Amino acid sequence: MSDPAPRGTRIAHIGIAVRDLDAILPFYRDLLGMPEVPLADADGARIEAVGAGESLVELLEPASDESPIAKFLAKRGPGIHHVCFAVDDLEGTLARAKAAGVKLIDEVPRMGAEGKRIAFLHPSSTAGVLVELTEH
Ligand code: ZN
Repeated sequence: MSDPAPRGTRIAHIGIAVRDLDAILPFYRDLLGMPEVPLADADGARIEAVGAGESLVELLEPASDESPIAKFLAKRGPGIHHVCFAVDDLEGTLARAKAAGVKLIDEVPRMGAEGKRIAFLHPSSTAGVLVELTEH
């Protein structure tokens, strides 16, 4: 892969935990006019994504009672589950976060729903927000 010019950090997507995808999708798609973007399901969740410019909103419905989204819903109810930032240098950002004492959920990047590598940071280190990092 070539080494593209730095693009800067941007919001890749916002993950929202929902109990019923089909019930909430029309709000984003029809009322707000956001186009559906096909995404693979991941992490034990059914995912519907809609576009907001360069960013996505990912609606996450648990596919099983054991999925992380099911646990989140049981504890906190529907709402924003995580924010994903695309960064220029995923490995470098992870290394800098670790060196700064940020608690990492994923020490090594893994494949995410968008077909790009991702890694999660623990909310205890990020003011209560589950932060996902990915590549452009
Ligand atoms: Zn995500």
